[in-house]
Amino acid sequence: MDDLYLVRDLKLSFPDLAHKPLFGIPPRIDILHGLSFSIRRGEVLGIVGGSGSGKSTLGRVLVRLLEPSGGEVMFDGQDITHLGEDALRPLRRRFQMIFQDPMSSLNPRRTVGAIIAGPLQLHGFDHVPARVDQALDHVGLPRAFGSRYPHELSGGQRQRVGIARAIAMQPEFILADEIVSGLDVSSQAQVLKLLADLVRDLGLTLAFISHDLSVIRRLCGRIMVLHQGRIVEHRATDAL
Ligand code: ADP
Ligand code: MG
Repeated sequence: MDDLYLVRDLKLSFPDLAHKPLFGIPPRIDILHGLSFSIRRGEVLGIVGGSGSGKSTLGRVLVRLLEPSGGEVMFDGQDITHLGEDALRPLRRRFQMIFQDPMSSLNPRRTVGAIIAGPLQLHGFDHVPARVDQALDHVGLPRAFGSRYPHELSGGQRQRVGIARAIAMQPEFILADEIVSGLDVSSQAQVLKLLADLVRDLGLTLAFISHDLSVIRRLCGRIMVLHQGRIVEHRATDAL
């Protein structure tokens, strides 16, 4: 079995707060309309689509920050569709997420070292300081950056800290949501190169969300195009 993720007929709806409740129950608005796809171990899957097409919502379902309203999400052969927080806890280490805006996802009052160490301590890892140093090495930041604060870093360096925090957990899967969108072109190229190297060297599986097809093309072997919560195209990047 070479699929890390197997997703079948995935549906997600949110309560529609803009409309009047009917008999006290708010109507729901459908965001994802039955998506089926798989993510193979070791691949880089690009998820592309316009604003509001459901990319971030889909990403949050894959790492189970959201619970689907229908369908099935299998991770490494295990059905995680409706798992509760207790059952998810041991899995949380195995799928990591890197967010769009590192300035808001990194605690400004903690040093880079403490930021990377936080999840490691939470999950009971040993040798935490050594793991922090190793993660900094992996993303090409000097170890001395461990004592810096996020505001003392450039945008590209902050994004590297977000990547370091994720890979320090030795995950199998990383979801990156628009992580180069706020960077200038040369920092974008560097972060993309870093991700490609890490996927290869650490044997990661990566889902890379972007609204920018040219970014996706450079990194991803396969791409999935979302439009209004549906998969409208699904193919190898070379064929595009
Ligand atoms: P993308 O990342 O592709 O821009 P999103 O997944 O963020 O798209 O959003 C898809 C749709 O879902 C949008 O119409 C958005 O307004 C809606 N949406 C996202 N999160 C929520 C939420 N928590 N409650 C209600 N609607 C939401
Ligand atoms: Mg988004």
